[in-house]
Amino acid sequence: MTMPADGSLPADLINRQIRLAARPFGLPKPTDWDVVEEPVSEPVDGRLLVEVSHISLDPAMRGWMNDVRSYIPPVRLGEVMRAGAVGRVIASRHSDFAVGEHVYGQFGVQEYADSDGRALRRVDPAAAPLSTYLGALGITGLTAYFGLFDVGDPQPGQTVLVSGAAGAVGSVVGQLARLKGCRTVGIAGGPDKCRLLVEEFGFDAAIDYKSEDVKTALRKHCPDGVDVYFDNVGGEILDAALTRLARGARVVICGAISQYNNTEQGPGPANYLSLLVNRASMTGMVVFDYADRYAEASAELAGWLADGRLRSREDVVEGDVTAFPQTLLRLFSGANTGKLILRIR
Ligand code: NAP
Repeated sequence: MTMPADGSLPADLINRQIRLAARPFGLPKPTDWDVVEEPVSEPVDGRLLVEVSHISLDPAMRGWMNDVRSYIPPVRLGEVMRAGAVGRVIASRHSDFAVGEHVYGQFGVQEYADSDGRALRRVDPAAAPLSTYLGALGITGLTAYFGLFDVGDPQPGQTVLVSGAAGAVGSVVGQLARLKGCRTVGIAGGPDKCRLLVEEFGFDAAIDYKSEDVKTALRKHCPDGVDVYFDNVGGEILDAALTRLARGARVVICGAISQYNNTEQGPGPANYLSLLVNRASMTGMVVFDYADRYAEASAELAGWLADGRLRSREDVVEGDVTAFPQTLLRLFSGANTGKLILRIR
């Protein structure tokens, strides 16, 4: 975008947005979305305007589209779809933010976002690519960090099992567990992802849930049982993992993507009595609860990224905001590897 010489915004600047038009039944359909265009105005006192460049696509978005009680209110019909994103400040009447700075915030699926500056994090494109602030240096990395270290509490020499292991959160969890001196076993769909788990992310073993019997594979790769199971997918894989718990195991419920598009309530975990037998625990975690410790965790993650002990894999799709509905579906078909991002400029 070319700015007028006086620093004001171009008069004809248009913001394209993706708004929630209908509550999906099953997988979201094109008719569940509206594309809306509206003029961009100069920010008023105390506010700033961000030109969004990278939009985070998250499995949780599917849950935010349902009108049910959750850890965060649903997106309202007609509202811009909620999304974490990174962008550049292009106009500011906010004392803490200057034009040209890059920031992360809940900007939504739109090209320009007006913000009051609250809950924005400054990001540094010289330190890492902007996409990485949605990957290992963003909510993805923080989820892996707090879910694994605070809830999973892995100890050196223990076995950590991760589902959705080639995805954004899972690939970081496996690497962090390895940094902690654990044996790591990942579950993912397909031979390519399983190869990546071992060759790129350093897992000790990988299980292809699409072609292997998970319970049999768990007996082979986790002979002493599973001390920490970091669950991203729920459903049958959670059930299989429960059969293999070690005494005192911790099951971290981070997500359950296999269930998000269900049109009927699925069955609960049949093997939950394994928690009793093994004096194990199963704990849900929501990353937002750790907001007051993000800075501490981000600094540690950035250090590991800088010295090469941690890799952030980002799956960046190029397109404008209208590519959002189709791109989101990649999460549910497993077409993404690593953090799925829509780059709109
Ligand atoms: P992701 O793992 O990068 O992408 C989703 C992956 O899930 C797909 O690539 C696919 O991999 C797998 N998948 C899709 N359908 C599946 C099914 N039916 N059964 C098994 N696997 C399936 O996504 P992410 O952003 O890292 O999120 C991972 C999980 O963490 C999600 O459940 C998400 O809701 C959760 N999460 C939780 C928090 C929190 O605060 N609790 C924060 C962020 C994310 P395959 O090809 O291997 O099937």
